[in-house]
Amino acid sequence: MTVEVVVVGSANADVVVRVERRPGPGETVLGSDTVLAAGGKGANAAVAAALQEARVALLGAVGDDQHGELLRESMSGAGVQLDLVRTTDRPTGAAYITVTPDGENTIVVSPGANSAVDVDQVEAAKDVIAGAKVLLASLEVPLPAIERAVALANEAGTRAVLNLSPVAKLSRQTLAALDPLVVNEHEAQWLMDGATDLTKLLDLGPKSAVVTLGSRGALVIEKHGTTEVESPRVTAVDTTGAGDAFVGALITQLAAGDDLAAAARRAVRVAAVSVTRPGAQASYPTRGEVDSARG
Ligand code: ADP
Repeated sequence: MTVEVVVVGSANADVVVRVERRPGPGETVLGSDTVLAAGGKGANAAVAAALQEARVALLGAVGDDQHGELLRESMSGAGVQLDLVRTTDRPTGAAYITVTPDGENTIVVSPGANSAVDVDQVEAAKDVIAGAKVLLASLEVPLPAIERAVALANEAGTRAVLNLSPVAKLSRQTLAALDPLVVNEHEAQWLMDGATDLTKLLDLGPKSAVVTLGSRGALVIEKHGTTEVESPRVTAVDTTGAGDAFVGALITQLAAGDDLAAAARRAVRVAAVSVTRPGAQASYPTRGEVDSARG
């Protein structure tokens, strides 16, 4: 199998219930009908990339259950190659999400099969990683697997991109291999111990960094300078998975040969369309839809 992009990351079933108010300890409240959706940061980014017409594979794991089927169908429907997705005896990862009328949510994630992604699985994909142009890693799978994948990419000359979400402490060696490290503003603050000058992210070691700034777009930080990338103005209805849409589009463009600033300019357009529609994967646009969207 040859692909342009390999994504190492999670696949989760999102189980969403709307409630009037959150239950207190020992209390039961009734909620809406359950909405079941395909999610997880790795699967989301892979789907976003496939819809932008990258040849992309997910390296991850699901369980032998209905949630696993849902995820496989959603990903293969978008065109993601699944040869590197392992079926394990752990249940598929799930995110249990309650949403209140003010739009706030609380989320419990059960990693399940995602916890089974290990160094051996990454090693077995060594040739696919070496043959790809870009490797993307995100952090809902165990860190040793992520760090090994980045190291293999680096050795083979495959560009390594890492979305540090949720935040975790990376080795200096892994950080030094990243081009770029992608974080949102909160993650950037955590990494820099509250310092406000985002260009200081390069002091941590990555070759470049991208900070996503919600409706304000993104900041591309390179050794030779910083580029502000404005987002098109849109009416946001649901920003779930916007960061994953951004990263999926970014890696597609990098694999196609764009420079980082050009890739980020396309990525904000893809993410902007995604926030105008409900859901994560379900909200992601095709390449043609982005071309015809204003902005
Ligand atoms: P995360 O979803 O990881 O917290 P952000 O909130 O920074 O990250 O969003 C990621 C990207 O999604 C932004 O860089 C931007 O391109 C897009 N985005 C998010 N919210 C909006 C919004 N309200 N309007 C337009 N684009 C948005």
